[in-house]
Amino acid sequence: MEKPESTNNDQQPCLPKYDFVRQIVADDIRTGKWDQRTHTRFPPEPNGYLHIGHAKAICLNFGIAAEFGGKCNLRFDDTNPTKEEQEYVDSIIEDIKWLGWDWEDRLYFASDYFDQMYEYGVELIKKGKAYVCDLTAEETREYRGSLTEAGKGSPYRSRSVEENIELFEKMKDGEFKDGEKTLKAKNDMASANVNMRDPVMYRILHAAHHRTGDQWCIYPMYDWAHGLEDSIEGITHSICTLEFENHRPLYDWFLDALWIHHPQQIEFARLNLTYTVMSKRKLLRLVQDGLVSGWDDPRMPTLSGMRRRGFSPEAIRNFCKTIGVNKFNSTIDYALLEHCLRQDLNKTSPRAMAVINPVKLVIDNYPENESEELEAINNPDDPSAGMRKVPFSKELYIEREDFMEEPPKKFFRLAPGREVRLRYAYFVKCTDVVKDEKGEIKEIHCTYDSATRGGDSPDGRKVKATLHWVCAKNSKSAQVRLYDYLFTKENPDQAEEGEDFTANLNPDSLKILDNCFIEPSLADCGPLDRVQFERLGYFCVDPERTEDGRPIFNRTVTLRDTWAKMQKAQQKK
Ligand code: ATP
Ligand code: MG
Repeated sequence: MEKPESTNNDQQPCLPKYDFVRQIVADDIRTGKWDQRTHTRFPPEPNGYLHIGHAKAICLNFGIAAEFGGKCNLRFDDTNPTKEEQEYVDSIIEDIKWLGWDWEDRLYFASDYFDQMYEYGVELIKKGKAYVCDLTAEETREYRGSLTEAGKGSPYRSRSVEENIELFEKMKDGEFKDGEKTLKAKNDMASANVNMRDPVMYRILHAAHHRTGDQWCIYPMYDWAHGLEDSIEGITHSICTLEFENHRPLYDWFLDALWIHHPQQIEFARLNLTYTVMSKRKLLRLVQDGLVSGWDDPRMPTLSGMRRRGFSPEAIRNFCKTIGVNKFNSTIDYALLEHCLRQDLNKTSPRAMAVINPVKLVIDNYPENESEELEAINNPDDPSAGMRKVPFSKELYIEREDFMEEPPKKFFRLAPGREVRLRYAYFVKCTDVVKDEKGEIKEIHCTYDSATRGGDSPDGRKVKATLHWVCAKNSKSAQVRLYDYLFTKENPDQAEEGEDFTANLNPDSLKILDNCFIEPSLADCGPLDRVQFERLGYFCVDPERTEDGRPIFNRTVTLRDTWAKMQKAQQKK
């Protein structure tokens, strides 16, 4: 029997599937909790470059705003003057734009709210909920107690409101030295949550700030500032990572004490990836110690490094969609990231031929001084990409690995007496090899069959291999850089005693091949252009050139999809 057109048997509307954060947002819209408003933000601290973990948070916050007709702010959480720099602000802006997100005119800085935060501090003092404390940092730690032991109240806890206001103003006016005094919240030294035991709200720091200069010598602590920033901006859903879950009671306490707009905080699990580190402190260490070439080293998990490596914004966004959002910390297999990358590059990258470890192939029966142009397909997955011409002549380069003088059983490529196909060109048959004095193969000699032009034999003859090649005379020289994981261990933090994560750096993570040849159609390629070198992988043109002006190609990823293979194998089980 034919089914009726609407087969909604269980009478359920076909709802899209939401992750738990989106479900909260959707429910809030349904119940009118925020007057149909959805307002998120991405709040980076400008103390390093963004990495793929940040991309997860960016796609979540900007994605939710886009999907629910809301807004997402970009706000720099620049409350720590000693570690923050304009360079980081600029790079973060560039990276988020590159990923394809737009904050319109809502670019904010926490430092713009310093006056307002100071006022809020005064208000809490007036309400008897904050006090100026003279304990040193060390003493403060002692008084705080531990997870098993209650804290004890600071002797300065009972200062009068007037005295506190006066001292707080003097702190602001620079009358005390660094560390001499702090402003603390007066909440609960016996709380089971250590974060609630009179946390520091302001510290004295005579340091210039990248935006406010010397205007301030007191700076708000993160736990005090963060909730205020969200509140001031009217954020509805303050989305952050799990480690802030037990800070939430404190944020709630501050906002409720001040009676100001109170966003809902939602915590999700941060992204961890195998074979890399994501902490900015560790990434900074790699940069500062010269263990990588910079924040944008193509081996780094930073967005600038990944861009230089050849990642597309689409691939990264698709990866973030694929991994989803949940409440449990886990580590994602790097192969999944590469899988998402290949899916995108396969659709978008034009094909070309390059030989990265060349050996000369001479076609003895091809006319001397003659050449021709053969038709090659630019992208088999995209007919609109069209065709291009590839020059062919008597002398070519092929990969050294594609020839073996004494081939083992499963080697089907070129060998003495054997015939193979040269992609888009002809069948060639190996007749001889010429070696240098060290016994290394210098030239491979072949004959070609002119009837096989284009790559097929009219008599139906089959060959077992198709090789890529470039024309020796007409190709261009290039440098190719091959990359491997930056670390040898899935979890680089797993180090021997007395060593740290840098002990697990992969000594073979970069291989430079300086004697490569690319087909002439690539001569005009520009920085960050992407291309698939047939049989070798996806590559991206580096923004820099070699000292002698040749282009550099970074291998983005190989062609073989280990993730897809793994999934198939698992399905079979
Ligand atoms: P680090 O701990 O390395 O210093 P951070 O989390 O302090 O990094 P921020 O600049 O404060 O770095 O991060 C901005 C936002 O990005 C925060 O909301 C943070 O929760 C989120 N974020 C940072 N790392 C990850 C990650 N690995 N996965 C998901 N979100 C992340
Ligand atoms: Mg942070």
